[in-house]
Amino acid sequence: MLKAKCPECRNEAVVDEEMTKVGCSHCGFTASYESYLETMKGMAQNMSDDYQANLDKSGF
Ligand SMILES: [Zn+2]
Repeated sequence: MLKAKCPECRNEAVVDEEMTKVGCSHCGFTASYESYLETMKGMAQNMSDDYQANLDKSGF
């Protein structure tokens, strides 16, 4: 089974064999693999936005 990172609790989630679903046994998160990828993409985007915002705030 494939391992993935849970976007909810950041523990280890599992991708099913057909690569259609992601499930986390830690917090009960489940999503289709497609929407999981979208979620992770959005999180990466948010993180880099925050990073940029912090840079801007620091005044350099
Ligand atoms: Zn979880």
